[in-house]
Amino acid sequence: MTKQRPLIAGNWKMNGLKADGLALARAVKGGAAGISAELLVCPPATLLAGAGEVLAGSPVGLGGQDCAAGAPGAHTGDIAAVMLADLGCRYVIVGHSERRSDHGETDASVRAKAEAALGAGLIPIVCLGETEAQRDRGEALTVVARQLAGSLPQQSNAANTVVAYEPVWAIGTGRTPSNADIVAVHGHLRRELTKRSSEAAGIRLLYGGSVKPGNAKEILGLADVNGALIGGASLKAEDFLAIARSCPM
Ligand code: PEP
Repeated sequence: MTKQRPLIAGNWKMNGLKADGLALARAVKGGAAGISAELLVCPPATLLAGAGEVLAGSPVGLGGQDCAAGAPGAHTGDIAAVMLADLGCRYVIVGHSERRSDHGETDASVRAKAEAALGAGLIPIVCLGETEAQRDRGEALTVVARQLAGSLPQQSNAANTVVAYEPVWAIGTGRTPSNADIVAVHGHLRRELTKRSSEAAGIRLLYGGSVKPGNAKEILGLADVNGALIGGASLKAEDFLAIARSCPM
């Protein structure tokens, strides 16, 4: 399998007013030179246009945090994938656990959003991960395999889709799985992707959940970890860039 360039993606979530959000985008852009990993920031929808202007011509990509499954039309408050593409987005996060829990998103609705993203020429970052109760019951591998099968579009391949493994209990908590547990889940996802098709086998697998400058090198060096999805630490440019710098090539 060809080695994929690691992706370091920042999920700003519902954070950032115009002044500090654009300052953050400028700081990430300013520190990006010499970083070999692919860099991506996913600001809230209100900042996409402004951040896109700041990042234009830089190596830092722009992504949305969610998209609608349907085409543009009468859906108040939703954003169609084609609208994100029109703003210069290259990626969109779909199925983040906060969307799954706050908005009742299911594997089927996540798959429909990922399909809409592919249709608009965007790369979906499809998130999945077990809850703490599921892990305690020994179900982590079956849960993530089920989410993968249910959430990934049929046409997903290594060039058009990214998968992010984010254990729900590790998001924003400062807790992370052991290295062995991350390797076990990523290895399992890799085997499942390989069973799907040779085109899907090389899909990049990001780890997400309390990645910080202090643990990034260790996590990013694990087998089948092809980058990271960063929440809290992506709100400080120096932390986000430090994580990206610790990525092995
Ligand atoms: C996330 O929400 O995608 C995430 C990884 O958050 P944090 O890094 O804050 O745990």
